[in-house]
Formats: sequence, C-alpha cells, structure tokens
Amino acid sequence: MQALEQKILSEGIVLSDQVLKVDAFLNHQIDPVLMQQIGHEFAARFKDQGITKIITIEASGIAPAVMAGLELGVPVIFARKHQSLTLKNDLYKAQVHSFTKQTTSTIAISNKYLHATDKVLVIDDFLANGQAALGLIDLIHQAEAEVVGVGIVIEKSFQTGRQLLLDKGYRVESLARVESLNDGQVTFVRD
Ligand code: 5GP
Repeated sequence: MQALEQKILSEGIVLSDQVLKVDAFLNHQIDPVLMQQIGHEFAARFKDQGITKIITIEASGIAPAVMAGLELGVPVIFARKHQSLTLKNDLYKAQVHSFTKQTTSTIAISNKYLHATDKVLVIDDFLANGQAALGLIDLIHQAEAEVVGVGIVIEKSFQTGRQLLLDKGYRVESLARVESLNDGQVTFVRD
C-alpha cells in the first residue's frame, strides 16, 4: 500500500535493525485519514469472505481494526492485556510473549462476543514473530469460531511471523512488508 509505505519512509524512525517506531501515525499519534485508507484496503482484500467479527489487541491494533470494521460492517473486539475489574469471569485467555517488551502477558476477551458461528479476521499493527497473532487465534479457537485470515499493517518480513502463520495454514495480508531495517534504512519487499 503506497500511502502507508510513504508514511513509513517519511515519519517512521528506525530504532534498531529489529524495531521500527511509528508513533507519529499509528502507535501514539494516529493519522485518521491513513487509518481510513488502511481500513478500506483490509476490507477490499477480505470482502466476500463472510467475515462476521474482527479481533485485535489493545492498544495499537484498535484504530486500523475499527476502520476495517466500519468498512466491512462488522463489530470489532479488542483483547485486553490487563484484566480489568469488569472483565473477570467467562473469559477466553491466551499467553502472548511480547517481542518489543520481552515479557509474557495474558490477553483476554469475554466469551460473550465470540461464538462458534463467527468467521473472524485478526488485525494487528505489526507482525514480528507472530506471537500476538497466534494468541488471538488461540482465543478464536477457544470459541470454536473460524479464522478467516490475518491482516497486518506493517509486517517485518525478516522475522519469522509470516512464515509461521502461513505454515499453520492462515492467510496473511500485510499492507506494508518491510524487508530490512539495516543501517537505519527501511526497505520494502517487492514481489
Ligand atoms: P509478534 O507478536 O508478531 O512477535 O510482534 C507483534 C507485536 O509486537 C505487535 O502487536 C506490536 O505491538 C509489537 N511490535 C513488534 N515489532 C514492532 C516494531 O518494530 N515496532 C513497534 N512499534 N511494535 C512492534
């Protein structure tokens, strides 16, 4: 997606060979126009799949997921990372190891919002080693719902996540595929 790649080049900051910071438009300040375009693109790629729900993880997956949900006309569920007072019982839970924080945390959703009849699209901001996506897929399986695919805003293609998800049989659609962050430069995969 050209507008996204341009934004990454102009406003992304390469923190290391492994980590890209996009606080200017996705992870802290949010560019609503770009999010709308992202939602449109996800919807175009996954339309006609009979999607009934979108699932993401707080906080940075929410903006792109909501925009995709608006385009597809389906509800968006975000998994919580910290158990809140109102979210206690009847939960689906999974463990997720965070690539950026190097910690393992529990993510959870209420079982009220996901059912065996649902066809679910997973959306997240980044794909690195695939642990966040697999955690969300675990929640979907607990509900005995169907995983339609995984939509990623920025995939770091030099990490293992994409292949891991493909090997498990999931469709992966990434709007920007970063080939390398070496030497402070962002380069993209060209197919
Ligand atoms: P994974 O679970 O695929 O290893 O990592 C994906 C998760 O880690 C995303 O939800 C995202 O929050 C975070 N993440 C991974 N790599 C990066 C990165 O380069 N930049 C930022 N901002 N977040 C990342």
